[in-house]
Amino acid sequence: MIPIQEMKQKVCNALDERAEELKSIGNHIFINPELGFKEFNTAEYICERIEQMGLSYRKGLAITGIKAYIDTGRPGPTVAVIGELDSVICPEHPSANKETGAAHTCGHHAQLVNMLGVGLGLLDSGILDELCGRIVLFSTPAEEPFEAEYRAKLKEEGKIKFTCGGKQELIRIGEFDDIDLALFVHIGSQNVIRVTSNAFISKRVIFSGKEAHAGNAPHLGINALNAATIAWTAINSLRETFVEEDCVRVHGIMPQGGKIAISVPAEVSMELIVRAKTMETTIAINDKVNRALKAGAMAVGAKVEIIDTVGFLPMDPNEDMAKLFESNFKTLLPNECFVKQIHFKGGFDMGDVGHIIPQVHPMLGGISGNLHQRDFTIMDEQMVYVNPAKIIAMTIIDLLADNASRGGEIIKRFQPKLSKNEYVNLIEGLSKSSEFNYID
Ligand SMILES: [Zn+2]
Repeated sequence: MIPIQEMKQKVCNALDERAEELKSIGNHIFINPELGFKEFNTAEYICERIEQMGLSYRKGLAITGIKAYIDTGRPGPTVAVIGELDSVICPEHPSANKETGAAHTCGHHAQLVNMLGVGLGLLDSGILDELCGRIVLFSTPAEEPFEAEYRAKLKEEGKIKFTCGGKQELIRIGEFDDIDLALFVHIGSQNVIRVTSNAFISKRVIFSGKEAHAGNAPHLGINALNAATIAWTAINSLRETFVEEDCVRVHGIMPQGGKIAISVPAEVSMELIVRAKTMETTIAINDKVNRALKAGAMAVGAKVEIIDTVGFLPMDPNEDMAKLFESNFKTLLPNECFVKQIHFKGGFDMGDVGHIIPQVHPMLGGISGNLHQRDFTIMDEQMVYVNPAKIIAMTIIDLLADNASRGGEIIKRFQPKLSKNEYVNLIEGLSKSSEFNYID
């Protein structure tokens, strides 16, 4: 039996051997960003890498997801290392795709590198004989919730049912059923071990009025843009009622503000996100926002259709897994500063996973600039592509060595907030559409 510390050292040495390769994989994915539920080339690239590793895998899960299996051949828990396939839209970024505006300014590409690195490190080091259970390299689609219209179409076509996040859909179709523990590292501007995050509801809103000649006969029209503008002002008027500790955020865009300036706009659409620290508060704020939307339609005598989809549940790390991660972080990077805990006001679909199985989702630095911004830059390739793979692999060794006793204990101690079925019912039950018609 190899002592645990020695196993960890062997994996870290193997990853040092692969460091240049991992950095070049990172650079390749970074300059080839794709949007959620459209990550076909990225998925293909990952599959090629997995084939080179000689692993069996399944692909096309929730459209582009991939699960590759490293099986120790001995019974034990299954640990998933996750890598998110998608990018955001940030056309202002120098590496953005010219056509789609896609850019990896949330750093998900680094997660894929870390995920592949964990696989390579475990295989190259020859320590698998010392572990029990399985490791799944799990590439998941569409973590960023946007392009609501495109996703509504995918739903209509029966390709997916849960549109906000890839992991939501993967839970629904049973792809997390065989996973006992899950972890990965999200890029960030500082090192944080325990990340909690907001819940959210995603909204598609359509104001309908009546077209008319905007110059000669505006009195014959019903101006949907005016309805939307009043609604937006009403939403802004609510902000003083938001309680600081609830971390409320209401933000959005107007993808369609009318068709031609010479006619009264007959249809205007909005995409909104309502976020707060708990789902209960999110629902309460969402009710207020819906009242504001109705007010806009009512004021001008228009119609408003509101389609609410429940986004991610709040994220809360498993403390046992966070402790292991923290201790490995300190061992590998004794001189690096880190923060024990932060509350992120955005959301992560890993929050949903954490309601069902133990998860940890730390954020580690190595970038300059900020997430989702044009100045997002990878500054320290070792810190972004190699170190997280080492810490995740070290944590997996803790979980699965010694007959997977630690992993087993964590699973036994974990109290799921929801079963899979309860989760699916919750998301379906809270998602609803309503229509309010004030047209005479
Ligand atoms: Zn992200």
